[in-house]
Amino acid sequence: MQITSVKACPANLPYRKPWGISSGIADTAQHVLVKITTDDGDYGLGEATPFPIGYAYETQDSILHIIRDFLRPVLIGQHPFNLERIESSMARAVPGHPLAKAGIDIALYDLMGKILKVPVYYLLGGAVRTRVPLGYSIGIKSTAEMVQDAVHFVASGFAAIKVKIGAGPRVDLEHVAAVRDAIGPDIKLRVDANEAYRWDEALPMLRKLERYDLEYIEQPVPRWDLDGMSRLCAALDTPVMADESAFTPEDVIALIKFRAADMLNVEPCKSGLAGAKRIAAIAEAAGLSCTVGSMLEMGLGTAAHLHFACATRSVSHACELIAPLLFTGDILADPIFSQEPPDGHWDLLSGPGLGVTLDKRWMSALSDD
Ligand SMILES: [Mg+2]
Repeated sequence: MQITSVKACPANLPYRKPWGISSGIADTAQHVLVKITTDDGDYGLGEATPFPIGYAYETQDSILHIIRDFLRPVLIGQHPFNLERIESSMARAVPGHPLAKAGIDIALYDLMGKILKVPVYYLLGGAVRTRVPLGYSIGIKSTAEMVQDAVHFVASGFAAIKVKIGAGPRVDLEHVAAVRDAIGPDIKLRVDANEAYRWDEALPMLRKLERYDLEYIEQPVPRWDLDGMSRLCAALDTPVMADESAFTPEDVIALIKFRAADMLNVEPCKSGLAGAKRIAAIAEAAGLSCTVGSMLEMGLGTAAHLHFACATRSVSHACELIAPLLFTGDILADPIFSQEPPDGHWDLLSGPGLGVTLDKRWMSALSDD
């Protein structure tokens, strides 16, 4: 058995409403879909998720270029189950580009699951849970809109609410206070600054935010500032979570050495499923708990995140697998993730591979590459 074809196509979906974090606002998601086919005619599908406003260094165009011109040539002819060898080939072909490589990794897991007729979570160690409680992540917008979202999703059964911060200390405080007041004391409330602050300006502001009983504070300072992350971990009572600082297992070892994170946001669309499992194992051994966040994945990426969350012990916080609710339209044939779940959970996906079906329109777009 060998890989005979690797295709990639752009997939753009508008957000229902513009989505904002500390680095800017986007109105359309510009992702890349991947299809890997073998000489037996089996295929697997993946998704690469470049968030357009500063989360990662990659873009839709860079991912298409890297997959077509660097990764495809080293994948053709390989056995799709030889993941470690494939990872080494991709690393030699081009260093970095984790999101492009994650799209390939997800497609390979989908392919292996389809060939073996088992769901991807079996390939990741099997299920440790059959349902994943969800947290809803609220982008930066007006206080009234943020409160409205928080109240709605708490009433829908979501276990946690995340408030994106980084709009400035005064505005952040207003947003967090208003959301905590609206959802009451019993719902978990977390914040994510997406690298917005210097550590010395973050500290006094975060001390004020701690009054609102936060579950954790995510990525308060730039990804490279492990010293700042470490100072905040030591100074704050609330756990500090690394996201942009934690793309690779090597990143996580550095975070642990510098005592620069209490928790990790682990995302298969950021690190690949294989990389995410390595990171989760390191986290478990080091005593760090994990969540599975969102890089605003469409349906394929969300399915990959859900399989990982179901198959990983160290994931112990509500997961933000909510991005398909934010889009106008869906790439999947069945609206599994684009309609609100009845009780704030997603159930394990039990079909072969990722267990989801891509809509015909996107299957034809992939055959045109
Ligand atoms: Mg984050």
